[in-house]
Amino acid sequence: MAKQQDKYEDSQLYKIRHSAAHVMAQAVSELFPAGEAKVAIGPPIEDGFYYDFDLPRALTPDDFLAIEQRMREIIASGFEFQKRVVSADEAKQEFKDQPYKLELIEGLDKGGFDENGEPLKEKPEISFYTHDSFTDLCRGPHVANTGEIAPDAFKLMSIAGAYWRGDEHNKQLQRVYGTAWESAEQLADYLWRQEEAKKRDHRKLGKELGLFHFSEDVGPGVPLFTPKGEMLRHLMEGYVRDVQTRYGYQHVWTGHIVKEDLYKKSGHYENYSDVMFPPMVDEDVAFRLKPMNCPSHMTLYNEMGLHSYRELPMRFCEFATLYRYEKSGELSGLARVRSLTQDDCHVFCTPEQIESEFTLALNLIREVLDRYRFSDYSVRLSLRGEEGKYVNDPEKWDRAEAALRAALDKNNVEYWEAEGEAAFYGPKADFIARDVLGREWQLSTIQVDFIQPARLGCSYIGEDNKEHTPVLLHRAVTGTTERFMATIIEHFAGAFPVWLAPVQAVLIPIADRHVEFANQVAAELKAAGLRAEVDAGSDRMGAKIRYAQSQKVPYMLVMGDKETEAGAVAVRLRSGEDLGAISVADFLARTQADIAQGD
Ligand SMILES: [Zn+2]
Ligand SMILES: [Zn+2]
Repeated sequence: MAKQQDKYEDSQLYKIRHSAAHVMAQAVSELFPAGEAKVAIGPPIEDGFYYDFDLPRALTPDDFLAIEQRMREIIASGFEFQKRVVSADEAKQEFKDQPYKLELIEGLDKGGFDENGEPLKEKPEISFYTHDSFTDLCRGPHVANTGEIAPDAFKLMSIAGAYWRGDEHNKQLQRVYGTAWESAEQLADYLWRQEEAKKRDHRKLGKELGLFHFSEDVGPGVPLFTPKGEMLRHLMEGYVRDVQTRYGYQHVWTGHIVKEDLYKKSGHYENYSDVMFPPMVDEDVAFRLKPMNCPSHMTLYNEMGLHSYRELPMRFCEFATLYRYEKSGELSGLARVRSLTQDDCHVFCTPEQIESEFTLALNLIREVLDRYRFSDYSVRLSLRGEEGKYVNDPEKWDRAEAALRAALDKNNVEYWEAEGEAAFYGPKADFIARDVLGREWQLSTIQVDFIQPARLGCSYIGEDNKEHTPVLLHRAVTGTTERFMATIIEHFAGAFPVWLAPVQAVLIPIADRHVEFANQVAAELKAAGLRAEVDAGSDRMGAKIRYAQSQKVPYMLVMGDKETEAGAVAVRLRSGEDLGAISVADFLARTQADIAQGD
């Protein structure tokens, strides 16, 4: 069954954070003579709240202690939050010295905007919330009194500049960010996750582990992968490729440039030309760098001859490097790049096969997420809404939506339904995985498409001997190699499972006389399929071990006189655990068992 998604707006945390924003605004205002602090907006946000101020001087983090102290006093007094609905005139009178509030009241009064300046469908009532001496223009909701904010579960985090109404032509205000939780333990856990997220930042770790670089000479958004980084890509893609093959998918390859006309036919030109790089024109024919595979795969389907229903489903996969024009300001490490490699797949099937194909994709995705140790994920099922952007074929929609629901129910996948979130061409399911820090990453997707196959003239001869248009499923497992790499670097903090580690074992000879034996063992390990390296540098053993540990290499094999004589290796794990000396054969057996277990 579909789960009701709990709305953050209805939660106690939301009320606590919203209330903390008011309490902070009071505390900040009191730092200045009456009327000198101008308050703008202060909504709750994910993990906390902020408030925008226009103040006689710049706040610094040094002010935080005093502000927090005053907030605790207000909390301790247990002031009630009292709501009052008022007329626009009353509101203007109350805030006559607060120009930002006056502008917001104007917006509320005319209709169309809420007290944070966000667009609204209907004209709202105007209301105040008052606690102690502080009144804010606000719809709520709030906790009943300030005492419900735990005095040891909030913290001011940072100050940033923010233009009034997000418009750079307006005055820049001071935005103070805070976080608030229900208990001190929750706050401590949040602060730990923040710290950990900084340490795990894939841009930082990518550099430390020597996986990839960006260069101004090549241009923004095009990562350059080192031998180690490419090995990681290769392992990631090879793994998915093997799983796909096992599930009956076939791999194809369709190049990097495509005639622009194909995108005009498919409708992509119309909808996505802003993410395409400009055309390359040769003898009056315009070509584009490929921004998506769908039209190429459909063309290939058509070129392969007339299809019978007996051949369906046909499943084409491609690890295709695509090029998308992302504004340079929006590029972010590997998470957002201009050259991206999708593990893209297009399934051509009959309408009756939607449920079984969706189930197949579902199981494949679950197997892959499990291998990457994402045990906490859920599915957003995006359905057609009321609005007119959806292709008007209600019967097809109903059938497809029912097929997707049935597959999710039968496979006990936790999901929630998002009405009106579907693409214009059909319903879709997106997998949202939580990493070890509880952060959500949208990874896999399965989309049903009723439109594109008809546009590109795809067909098959049905059991009735008549021509039909196949349904197309667009499916990605890890999404793109680049973004997924960013995700797993942060998820594993760079300590990849053994099967995925670019270097699985480093051999550390203690002295020069042990190098020969190290080389010999390395050759043996490589012959057995292990990725092993010898550190024959001049550093001392301790330094070599520390370096290998910093590189998060799963196994360090130290060898001195004793080991060389015995034909053994002294094994250390990256966790610091010391397994002592074991024979090379035993070591191999152990690692192979680890890998088979998915370790
Ligand atoms: Zn409020
Ligand atoms: Zn597609």
